[in-house]
Amino acid sequence: MDTRENITSLKGVGEKTAKLFAKLNIQNIEELLHNYPRDYETFSQPTLIQDAVSGEFCSIRACLVGNITAKKVRNLTILNFTVKDTSGEVFMTYFNTPYIKNILKKGYFYIFRGIPQNKNGKLIMEQAKIYKPEEYFKLMGVLQPKYSLTAGLTNHMVAKSVKQALTVCDVENDYLPEWIRQELQLAPYRQAIEEIHFPPDYERMLESRKRLVFDEFFIFLLALRKCKEHRADLESGYPMMEVASTRRLIEALPYSLTGAQNKVWQEIQKDLMGKKAMNRLIQGDVGSGKTILAFLALLMCVANGYQGAMMAPTEVLAGQHYETMRRLTEKYRLPFSPALLTGSMTAKEKRQTYEEIKSGKANVIIGTHALIQEKVEYKQLALVVTDEQHRFGVRQRERLAGKGEGVHVMVMSATPIPRTLALILYGDLDISLVDELPADRLPIKNCVVGTQYREKAYRFIEKEVGMGHQVYVICPMVEEGETDGVENVISYTEKLKSILPERIQVSYLHGKMRPADKNKIMEEYAAHNIDVLVSTTVIEVGINVPNATVMMVENAERFGLAQLHQLRGRVGRGEHQSYCIFINGSGKKQNFDRLEILNHSNDGFYIAGEDLRLRGPGDLFGIRQSGLMDFKLGDIYQDTDVLKTAAGYADKVLEEDAGLEKPENEVLGKYMENVLNSVDFWTI
Ligand code: ADP
Ligand code: MG
Repeated sequence: MDTRENITSLKGVGEKTAKLFAKLNIQNIEELLHNYPRDYETFSQPTLIQDAVSGEFCSIRACLVGNITAKKVRNLTILNFTVKDTSGEVFMTYFNTPYIKNILKKGYFYIFRGIPQNKNGKLIMEQAKIYKPEEYFKLMGVLQPKYSLTAGLTNHMVAKSVKQALTVCDVENDYLPEWIRQELQLAPYRQAIEEIHFPPDYERMLESRKRLVFDEFFIFLLALRKCKEHRADLESGYPMMEVASTRRLIEALPYSLTGAQNKVWQEIQKDLMGKKAMNRLIQGDVGSGKTILAFLALLMCVANGYQGAMMAPTEVLAGQHYETMRRLTEKYRLPFSPALLTGSMTAKEKRQTYEEIKSGKANVIIGTHALIQEKVEYKQLALVVTDEQHRFGVRQRERLAGKGEGVHVMVMSATPIPRTLALILYGDLDISLVDELPADRLPIKNCVVGTQYREKAYRFIEKEVGMGHQVYVICPMVEEGETDGVENVISYTEKLKSILPERIQVSYLHGKMRPADKNKIMEEYAAHNIDVLVSTTVIEVGINVPNATVMMVENAERFGLAQLHQLRGRVGRGEHQSYCIFINGSGKKQNFDRLEILNHSNDGFYIAGEDLRLRGPGDLFGIRQSGLMDFKLGDIYQDTDVLKTAAGYADKVLEEDAGLEKPENEVLGKYMENVLNSVDFWTI
């Protein structure tokens, strides 16, 4: 069977299951096979209750004694019961899982897997996973894949489908030139795919992973080099002159630009006035004030009589930039006439905006991917700014730039990438650093605490809300059932609603919501109709609500420090003192030590480096540093060596055979053609 077939061609995958897979962006078999496990589970011998360590994941074999009691707190059903083994007892708690009453029988033994916590001398476990002993013993001793899931789709179902796909599909075609594979002693493609899902042992899993990470980087870099061909030394199609309005705006702003902002602004101006088209990456930590630099560049562009566009990764962020620009335009009488273009606008609204763009009535267009739709025709597009570029692919950038000849491109990112890596990844861009924060900021107060601190945190949140401020609470997961022992947005929102006084408005936000709903929530939050927003990391990107003063992160140990640092950047944006509460849900000391780094530094580069150093190269799963430059398996920090190697080989291959036409590169050439033509591949 061909791997491009729809997954419904697998036995046991009907329309209903296919819809669930679609939620994980899996539609065909190829995508199923490239949906790698996010971790592996080893089912070890259960421990005695007396040996269980508070805060550390474990399995216990214990007997249900006494009855299961149920109580209702607002719309939350809480089940409680006690289990015992020869050495001790554990008090179990479950939320909204009434069926447990039907599967557990008094006097029988079960295996409970979860994280025990010591509470007033008693061991408790929340939401522990339950196995029948015979079921559990079958799983012992093997590396079991753990996949990302969605409600209704079980891990077993995904594993079964992958297993079937591997037996019925032809995945022999190895596109890597044989000599590279030999030189680097990489596993064959088929073996790597098979064993990344079902590794016979840890070593073989690492081997498979190495091959697939190499592929990701190699293909990415080949494509990048190919794009570079088009842009290197491109003549500027839109030479500009210095204008008075930018100077006037800088003078009129309520703050003065930092030294770093001034320096970068000079670099931008020089580019725009030069003979070559600008191709520049603006890197600056969260809160360093990149937006105003983009607006200045756009102002110079429209004052020269051209159009400019600014692309943001989310509708929320695009909407926010649009509003900021409108306010600035009004306040300082700037020559902007901005238009907003996003996917969730009605067809009629879009048509009207297309018209304004085409006629030139709109001279700045702010939006999401919608900006690069075929239908959008620009009158005279001269400058393209992309904000938080790591969410976009090279290809998308290219497509927008392709809307005109010799268009200037400016890319803004808060991703802390060391210069050596930036040169590999963004080899085609010049780099400017905004390496200074505005001086008037009060430093954020941080604390790293265990789950027993929650009660205190909730009271603190109540107090801050009472003072008219707002709060973010971050959970790693969206809904119940995705990963055990990890907080999810939906249940947490319910919990907070029942804990906090009713006058406090609690709402939630996550990536699986419809864009229009997400926008609505963010608007309500910005308008202060919501006090506490429980969210996944979707709020990480660029949002600016200066009234928010508290950021509480549940299961902080599951995030890379660089990402936590980005999250932290959502508070401390106004005049009020702001606070960050990082909850270490694992209770492990090594996680406390790691998270402590956030306490000592506010420098994104330093934090990312220290994180990597502390965790060492062995820690491949569970934490992803990025969320930044998202490859499926590879992580630019952890796999830096592989990345460098891949860069070397990509250059070598193209040096000898730029068109990938030699016989040994034939399969690779075909593969690259597909890659370059698929837009999706580039939404990394
Ligand atoms: P980021 O670099 O994370 O995109 P923003 O551009 O959103 O940061 O800026 C964060 C906040 O700082 C905004 O409210 C902005 O108005 C303000 N700001 C920008 N530059 C300065 C400055 N030089 N002094 C004081 N505040 C500034
Ligand atoms: Mg920003």
